[in-house]
This record gives sequence, C-alpha cells and structure tokens, in this order.
Amino acid sequence: MIGARSTSKCLTVGKLYCSTVQAAQCRRFSASVPRRTNTLMETSGFSDTQLQVRDAIGKICSNFPDDYWAEHDESGKYPHELHTALAKDGWIGIALPEELGGAGLGISEATMMLHTISESGAGMAGAQSIHANVYATQPVAKFATPSQRQQMLPNLINGTYRTCFGVTEPNTGLETLKLRTQAVRDGDNYKISGQKIWISSAQVATKMVLLARTTPLEEVKKPSEGLSLFFIDFDKSKPGLDLKKIKKMGGRAVDANEVFFDNYVVPADTLIGNEGQGFKIVLHGMNAERCLLAGEALGLGYAALDRASKYAKERIVFGRPIGMNQGIQHPLAEAYMHLEAAKLATYHAARLYDQSTTDESITQTAVGVACNSAKYLAAEAAFTACERSLLSMGGMGYAQEYHVERYLRECFVPRIAPVSREMIMNYVGEKVLGLPRSY
Ligand SMILES: Cc1cc2nc3c(=O)[nH]c(=O)nc-3n(C[C@H](O)[C@H](O)[C@H](O)COP(=O)(O)OP(=O)(O)OC[C@H]3O[C@@H](n4cnc5c(N)ncnc54)[C@H](O)[C@@H]3O)c2cc1C
Repeated sequence: MIGARSTSKCLTVGKLYCSTVQAAQCRRFSASVPRRTNTLMETSGFSDTQLQVRDAIGKICSNFPDDYWAEHDESGKYPHELHTALAKDGWIGIALPEELGGAGLGISEATMMLHTISESGAGMAGAQSIHANVYATQPVAKFATPSQRQQMLPNLINGTYRTCFGVTEPNTGLETLKLRTQAVRDGDNYKISGQKIWISSAQVATKMVLLARTTPLEEVKKPSEGLSLFFIDFDKSKPGLDLKKIKKMGGRAVDANEVFFDNYVVPADTLIGNEGQGFKIVLHGMNAERCLLAGEALGLGYAALDRASKYAKERIVFGRPIGMNQGIQHPLAEAYMHLEAAKLATYHAARLYDQSTTDESITQTAVGVACNSAKYLAAEAAFTACERSLLSMGGMGYAQEYHVERYLRECFVPRIAPVSREMIMNYVGEKVLGLPRSY
C-alpha cells in the first residue's frame, strides 16, 4: 500500500492539475501508476502523484463501504476508524511539511484525498471527520514559529491530536469581521470568552484553531484588524469550556456543536503570528478549505451519478431499462458534464493556491476568486447530480438502502459552508466585475 510519506515529493511536472510546490526536487514516476477505472470521473490530466493519492485513499476507503456510513449516519456514532486508518499511513499530514512528519505535498493532492474519501460513499461525514486537520493547519504551518510548529503539528499528523476550526458565531454569522469572541491578555495567558457555533468534530477534538478578537472593534481602524489566530488546547475537562451538540439534517456521524467559552485560559504562546493579524493569517486556511470542500462536493456528485446510472441500467419498466429513456439519460448526462466542468475549476484553484506559495505573480485575489468560484461550481454541480440521481431512481432513490438520499442530504453542506453561495456571488461581483459592494 502506498502511504502519504512514500508519495511525498514525487510530483510529476507539467501535468494539467499538478501542484508544482516541490517540482524542482521531484523525481518522475517510472512506469505504471495505478488507474482506478471503476469510477465515473475522467482521470486524464491528473498528475501521477494525484492518481497515486486517489488509488491509495480509495483502497483505504474500500474498508468503509456505504453501509458503514449509512449505519453511522443513523446512529450518530463518530467514524473514528477512518481517521485512525489515515493517520496510520501518514495521510493527515498530506499537505504539511516533511520535517514535521508530513508528506510535503500541496492542496492539489489534499483536494484529491478528500474528493476520493467523499466519492467512496463516505460523503461529507467522512470528509468532515478529517478535513479541519488538513486545512486549518495550513496557517499554523505557515505562520507559527519553528518551536510552535514542532510542538503543535507532529502529534496532529500522527493522529494523537485532532483539531476543530472555530470561526462561526451565532450572532454574527457570515459577517466574520464582527465576531465577538474575545481573547484578553492576562500575564502569560489569554482568557477566552464568547460563543462559537456549528463547530464540527468539537466533541472529539483535542485542539482548536480559533479566531478571536484581541482588540475591540471600536478601537481598530479597519474591522479586519484586531483579530488573532490561536491554536489552543481544547480541553473539555478545564473550567470555562462547554459544548452543546446540534441536531442536523445530514452527516450525522460527525458532531456539530455550539461552543461556549467563559474565561477559558490558554497560554500566550498559542497565538499564531502577530496579534491583530489573525484575519489575514486565517485566510490562508480558508482558501485551502474552499478547495477541499469543492473536492468533497465533487465526490458526492460522482458517487450519486454512479449509483443512479447503475440502477438505470438494471431497472426494467415498460419492458426496457429506464436508462434507455432520454428523460432519464439526458439529465444524468448533463449532470456529469457539470461535474467535469466543476472538476476543472476545482483543480485549477488548488494548483493556483499551491503555486502562489512560490510564484509571486499569482495574487491572493486571483487565488481567492478561483477557490471561491470552484467551491460554488462544485457545490451546485453536486446538488444537481444528487437531485437528478435520486429522482431518476424513482421510489428507490428515496430509500436509505440505495444511499443517494444520504448524499443529497449531505450535499447541502458545501452549498452553505464555509461560505454561502450568495456571499461568493457578492465577492465575485465586487472583486472581479468591479460592481459596488452590496453588503
Ligand atoms: C454542517 C456544518 C458544519 C460546519 N462546520 C463549521 C466548523 O467546523 N467551523 C466553523 O467555524 N463553522 C462551521 N460551519 C458554519 C458555516 O461556515 C456557516 O453556517 C456559514 O458560514 C453560514 O453562516 P450562517 O449560518 O451564520 O449564515 P448567516 O450569516 O446567518 O446567513 C444566512 C443566509 O443569509 C444570506 N446572506 C447574509 N447576508 C447576505 C448578503 N449581504 N447578501 C446576500 N445574502 C446574504 C447567506 O448567504 C445565507 O444564505 C458549519 C456549518 C454547517 C452547516
């Protein structure tokens, strides 16, 4: 089995979607890179490394069939086993530096990993049990001091620590710059007070990447100032930290939570980068998050189409397979083309994200537009694919045993989070079209 560590540094230069982060140090793969042929997605154009990631992750996920995810969705039991299996082979650190135990690959490869997990039938639940460990650690790897990195990341990569991501708040929602959770300096510590909401995996996490205000909004020149990023112990046995689970529509194996801080004490050296610069720093993780979510959405869409087209070949009504009717065939074919287009946008965005770390001609605005657009397109394509797949299966589309209803329930997540469709359109309207800011 290929593990993340053995895949490290083996990028093939010049392929359409290939990250070139470490292109200079790459060695080429010689002959046969395994090609998984049993999925609908067209894999031409991916780098050999991405295909190796896809193959290795696909093998791990084959131990977690659809029924595993359906049962966990029903019971709400956390899918610890997937995290353990991925950590064992080094995959949690796929996009973290090699000197810390990571694989040193890029978001292009991490997106393929989350895409493959989702596409295996694990869907958003599988992806959400892993993904914060991949994207929320990007700003930590980039902006933490060497000693903080050494203290924080190796144990996360080997699976000892697990992190959640604490940004959203109940009273401010998408208006992130107005968030109210405060971190107040107190000698060698900060005291955290405030409330977060929708925090995934908080019940199992031992760490949190937290965005909090260190200078009150009224005292800063711009609202983007005065926010700070922390990588804190998330110790539920300590005073000042409380959680409440949120009941939700899908992905029920992975908890979502309200989190309450009341003078929760964290050491001052959990601050990442400079105090007050947290918003700029966290954006680095947010663009990565959009790429991963786009990949996860694609995975759900392809999984749904796969199940529906198999069903449409086999289900005989009026003396022929239902898939012989254009009324069934064409909506599925169109959904496939939307997924393929969104796939190009997704891996283009991931490549820009990776290349921007070494190529200064790629601006952060270009990266932001590409990552947001990709997340939007992939989420919409996934929704179209899941909805049409379900309808093309008639009553059985609605039955749990065929899993497509689970994919449909889950595919609302990338449409809502981490940023909504409307806010992406606001952003593109303003930043690309030059229209007046509408919000
Ligand atoms: C399953 C799930 C898991 C999540 N996990 C995490 C997590 O781990 N960590 C975390 O920090 N957050 C998490 N989130 C939160 C998620 O990022 C937010 O739900 C999302 O950013 C939307 O914020 P909101 O729910 O507060 O929506 P609101 O800000 O209340 O917005 C509600 C609606 O109004 C629209 N709207 C608001 N203002 C405008 C405007 N000016 N123009 C047009 N439309 C507008 C929005 O687009 C949206 O449709 C998760 C959410 C879900 C559902």
